[in-house]
Amino acid sequence: MDERRDQPPDRVTRPSVIVSGAAKLSPLQQAWSRYVTHTTNCPTCRDIDQGRCEDSGRLWNAYRAQGDEAYRRLSEETP
Ligand SMILES: [Zn+2]
Repeated sequence: MDERRDQPPDRVTRPSVIVSGAAKLSPLQQAWSRYVTHTTNCPTCRDIDQGRCEDSGRLWNAYRAQGDEAYRRLSEETP
């Protein structure tokens, strides 16, 4: 009846799942996925008292850059 409680909380996203999923994502989504994957696996980023590490900042900037790029392309295509 209660057997589900015996299962470990194993819904942590696995790298293989992320990689296969990322292949279908846009560059913007991939950049976001990389940022989220890092912050969920990085001990520094996970510790709310330590804040964010350099890698996190780099990935965030990459995501922002992708977003700006996508927005610029969009606004150029639209008359
Ligand atoms: Zn980090």
